[in-house]
Amino acid sequence: MPSSKTRIAILGGGVAGLVIARHTAGKLDTYSVTLFEQTDQVGGTWVYTDETDVDKHGLPIHSSMYKNLRTNLPREIMQIPDFPMKRDEGPSFVHHSVIREYLWDYAKHFNLYPHIKLNTVVKYVEPETLRNGQTIWMVTYEDLESKIETTKAFDAVVLCNGHYTVGHIPHIPGIESFPGGSIHSHQYRVPDVYARKKVCILGASWSGIDIAVEVSQYAEKVYISHNLPEPVDSKMSKNVEQRPGIQSIRGNIFIFRDGSTAEVDNFIYCTGYKFTYPFMSTKVEMRTDCNHVEPTYKHLIHTDYPSLFIMGLPGIVIPFPMFHLQAQYILSILEGRIKLPSSEKMREEYETEKKALLEQGIPLRYIIKLKERQWAYYDEIAAAANISSFPPVIRKIYDHSNEMRELDFTTYKSYQYRIIDDENFVVCYCKPC
Ligand code: FAD
Repeated sequence: MPSSKTRIAILGGGVAGLVIARHTAGKLDTYSVTLFEQTDQVGGTWVYTDETDVDKHGLPIHSSMYKNLRTNLPREIMQIPDFPMKRDEGPSFVHHSVIREYLWDYAKHFNLYPHIKLNTVVKYVEPETLRNGQTIWMVTYEDLESKIETTKAFDAVVLCNGHYTVGHIPHIPGIESFPGGSIHSHQYRVPDVYARKKVCILGASWSGIDIAVEVSQYAEKVYISHNLPEPVDSKMSKNVEQRPGIQSIRGNIFIFRDGSTAEVDNFIYCTGYKFTYPFMSTKVEMRTDCNHVEPTYKHLIHTDYPSLFIMGLPGIVIPFPMFHLQAQYILSILEGRIKLPSSEKMREEYETEKKALLEQGIPLRYIIKLKERQWAYYDEIAAAANISSFPPVIRKIYDHSNEMRELDFTTYKSYQYRIIDDENFVVCYCKPC
């Protein structure tokens, strides 16, 4: 007899996948849950590896963590609301290994392992329409140990395959003539390999700045090249210089947009990542150009397929807590407590919002970066799912840590936060690590 349970396929065992697994696996009389993870561990990008090329199965390395990385959000606002991180002395910006342990504890605590297929890569996802008009999803996956390929039907699919693995590499005229080493930040691991080198870092967002701070401790010279209207910060070490975007490269000479030049030994692209869904059937429209994914409703639901969910699209957010809300929003849809508008209406709403943002001068590639818009987004999906959004103290800590970062990004990770209540927090400065 066919099961009356809703069959959920979760693609990826990073934070997003674990959080939706926790909520669906908490209702096993309603859901049958399968989480597919291609590596041999859960945790996604937080599972550090020295490797930068392919894994033991020949799959591209997923993690983009570097050896010394400490979080760029304080743990008090990074943690998943129903699973607080252990309190330790010292700064709130913890080493990446603390987050990996935390995620492993989360999976154990909520007894998720019985639902997780490790070493299992999803190769193909295809919608099929039944005679009654219902869409089901045929998911084809390979057990990487036995090499056995299987196809199974599911009622809903949640894509949690991560968005920080496939680097965006802009073409720079003359790059072919550059004789030095060049990598994307996805492949960056340690700074000491740049000892006494002249390094150019392209991009001044989170990774660009973080990597520049590390590398400058070893390199002879670091050039951060970017197109921001203002220099990023003045508190960089003396061997760091900011330059405009790169116009062209001639051998090991980089020519910047202001006509200045620099001799460079190594080049690091910190130019962001691409959204990719290589397993998705071409029947499903998924536009991923210009650093955004469409057509989606509430940055989460495919407008043509209300049983296809894509977690973690928004950037410049607090990802772990956002997943906690997104997961419960998904459950509200699957359980009929939220009635979605028709596909046409969802697409119309998406297009209207996109148009309004473009008219405000926000480029298409930035509309998914919610920044200040994140708080309204959380409140909206929480209200729709009839759950609590975040207390004001979360935003206050977020704003404080951003302010400290803007003042001095070489020291902002030395702060320790403590939440007092829903409104208040205390902060102290630990000695720089
Ligand atoms: P991921 O963690 O990338 O997990 C995706 C999982 O899907 C992986 O395990 C992968 O193996 C699996 N997978 C992919 N394709 C398939 C397939 N076809 N079949 C089966 N499995 C598949 N966020 C913060 O909150 N604080 C920070 O300080 C912070 N720092 C960051 C630093 C770096 C360098 C990077 C890259 C990101 C950082 N982030 C940070 C953002 C971080 O990506 C998110 O917090 C979060 O980890 C994203 O989780 P995810 O589950 O969406 O994706």
